[in-house]
Amino acid sequence: MPNILLSCTNCGAQLSIPDTVQRFACEQCGTPLRLERSGGIAYLAEDTETAQQMASRVREAELAHLRRELEREIQFQMLDVPAYQLLRYDFVKIGAIKGWEATFARGQERLEKVFRNLTLEQLQKLIDLYNANPQSPTAAWLKRVKALREKIRELERE
Ligand SMILES: [Zn+2]
Repeated sequence: MPNILLSCTNCGAQLSIPDTVQRFACEQCGTPLRLERSGGIAYLAEDTETAQQMASRVREAELAHLRRELEREIQFQMLDVPAYQLLRYDFVKIGAIKGWEATFARGQERLEKVFRNLTLEQLQKLIDLYNANPQSPTAAWLKRVKALREKIRELERE
């Protein structure tokens, strides 16, 4: 991809900016700059974002990424159905639903909701049920879900 040629808003120096770069400092005067786009036109703006604003923006991006990952894991398929559907009797074992709820054919929506609302402690109990088999794909999947939820919770607390 060709570089974009733009002038520094502070000193007017011609800058050759790689298309992938968003924020940088002018090589002439050191002014922090941001590459902006509007209606197909690229231009430079002085970057006044504070360190705190930047940290918060990075955190939001990280959270959005983790939430997308978690969403993908929740829809993870085993035996051609979402994995949480295979856990309905395990949901009973850990007290997340009643036995009769698992016995009747339950809608996917309900089981998904149960899975989403499990506490981290309940998730750990599920992992313990499958952990005896080191090759268990269920245990590996549950651990990925738990790790993502823990990271999200940690970031949300900051
Ligand atoms: Zn400059």
